[in-house]
Amino acid sequence: MEVASRFVCVILARFKTMAKQHESNSKKDFIREIVADDILSGKHETAVTRFPPEPNGYLHIGHAKSICLNFGIAQEHSNSGARCHLRFDDTNPAKEETEYVEAIKEDIRWLGFDWKEHLYFASDYFDQLHAWAVHLISEGKAYVDDLNAAEIREYRGSLTEPGKESPYRERDVEENLALFERMKLGDFTDGEKVLRAKIDMAHANLNLRDPVLYRILHKKHHRTGDLWCIYPTYDYAHGQSDAIEGITHSLCTLEFEHHRPLYDWLVNNLPVPLRPRQIEFAKLRPTFFLMSKRRLLEMVREEYVDGWDDPRMATLSGLRRRGYPPAAIRSLCKTVGVTKFNSVTDVALLEHAVREELNKTAQRRMVVMEPIKVSITNWPSDGHVEMMSAVNNPEDSNAGRREIALSGEVFIERSDFMEDPPKKYYRLSPGAEVRLRYSYCIRCEEVIKNDEGDVVELRCTYDPETLGKNPVDRKVRGAVHWVPANEAFEADVRLYDRTFLVEDPAAEDDWRDALNPDALTELTGCKMEPILKNALPGECFQFERNGYFCVDSKYSVPGKPLFNRTVPLRDSWGKKQSK
Ligand code: ATP
Ligand code: MG
Repeated sequence: MEVASRFVCVILARFKTMAKQHESNSKKDFIREIVADDILSGKHETAVTRFPPEPNGYLHIGHAKSICLNFGIAQEHSNSGARCHLRFDDTNPAKEETEYVEAIKEDIRWLGFDWKEHLYFASDYFDQLHAWAVHLISEGKAYVDDLNAAEIREYRGSLTEPGKESPYRERDVEENLALFERMKLGDFTDGEKVLRAKIDMAHANLNLRDPVLYRILHKKHHRTGDLWCIYPTYDYAHGQSDAIEGITHSLCTLEFEHHRPLYDWLVNNLPVPLRPRQIEFAKLRPTFFLMSKRRLLEMVREEYVDGWDDPRMATLSGLRRRGYPPAAIRSLCKTVGVTKFNSVTDVALLEHAVREELNKTAQRRMVVMEPIKVSITNWPSDGHVEMMSAVNNPEDSNAGRREIALSGEVFIERSDFMEDPPKKYYRLSPGAEVRLRYSYCIRCEEVIKNDEGDVVELRCTYDPETLGKNPVDRKVRGAVHWVPANEAFEADVRLYDRTFLVEDPAAEDDWRDALNPDALTELTGCKMEPILKNALPGECFQFERNGYFCVDSKYSVPGKPLFNRTVPLRDSWGKKQSK
């Protein structure tokens, strides 16, 4: 534990230096350099990028990198009219839904980006893509194949063996045109025929061994309904959609590197209005996150979580509900940068960015998670109340102060009291003194227990001379948070921890085995400062000495907020204890 936490500190220190270095030398990444050069040399007047999600799931933290890159470049070149399109790559009706389209839009806006009027769907281009497929057939560059999926795979060969040509490869243009038309009209069943590009079955790059351009799928499409029963493949649709939209730089992740020759072959062999350039970069892969949409869908369907926006999910909507600020996610993307090298990003770097941001923006509140009652025995007994003035945010001079009423009975955290403390314990124990934050120092005089021997109340005295100043004759080292017993209201808190126990859950045989059983702990009856009663969904706070918390946007009701822990504060006592 000790080694682990020291390790995290070392790593964090390194990250901080990295982040600083990154800020100070504002050297462009290789993609931004290419874009800037292309504008400077006059190759392009401006930059047109796109973010092309497939609407088959919610966006995850990895997608944020691509969003920040594509929309970021457009922002940086806005003076030359640069823009970034949002294009839904909806070429596979089997998995796509309108729910996802709306969720994706919301997430991009939340991250702070705007596609303005440039919202497109690959399905808008089905007519054009079909016409270009006919063009390829007419030029003898595409053919209808009767091999089934398994046979196509078998004929493709391998990295060490050339592929075998399909017996249907030499069909003449007329026959191909007629068959393709019949495919479109619905004369065949799913998988009975496909349209393939005629390139080279012996090519070293398997993607060029007559890739499939169209397949038959009798499925309703979320936008085109039953109009089509043939759908273009990703490889065929993507580059052509880029070309139609006038995309100058088509940025994608490294696994598409081997698809680039095909991307180029298609734009070179079709009468497209422009030839976009595909450039690949490394994915963002934070540790302890499971990101594949397929897996995320399993988590939802098998009810390990209560939806795509569950705060345990790696989705942007989950992180939003958990309280991660969009600025922290943008900051992470900026810190990791854009390169061609696959690597993982320590989740500590993300959590650091979240704390940094929330430290600046979140108001401080006092909340007692596991309360124990403290009665101040020498408090004036005539219903005396004093208003204590608390700082809302020491990092923000505009955040002001608030008042908390002290009236002789408070709750403090059970863990801030120890009957038999070790040395150097600076919190409350019999005979010891602590400060109530923003208020007086109290001394524990008596410990009240029930029949089972549990501590149920602490009787303390306060020193009226210690408001806002330290006692002159002795040192009081600890300060604990508290809430007034009569005014506090009760609310539930959900403590979230990492969802998975291993750094790379995707590498496990079964991600289910790597789930953290303590990823969610529900606390009820937490005592809150009265001002929190009207906290609004999405609002984030620092619960002093505890962590950052956000009002849940799904289950909170007016006057009864539910709080999600975004991220804990580092607890120095926890570290000492483990030593
Ligand atoms: P996944 O494989 O994680 O389920 P995907 O790549 O299939 O996601 P798409 O909807 O195709 O999801 O992705 C949209 C865009 O986001 C693509 O350009 C893709 O390259 C990019 N992207 C996806 N994952 C990451 C990531 N981890 N880091 C950076 N960009 C990513
Ligand atoms: Mg994909």
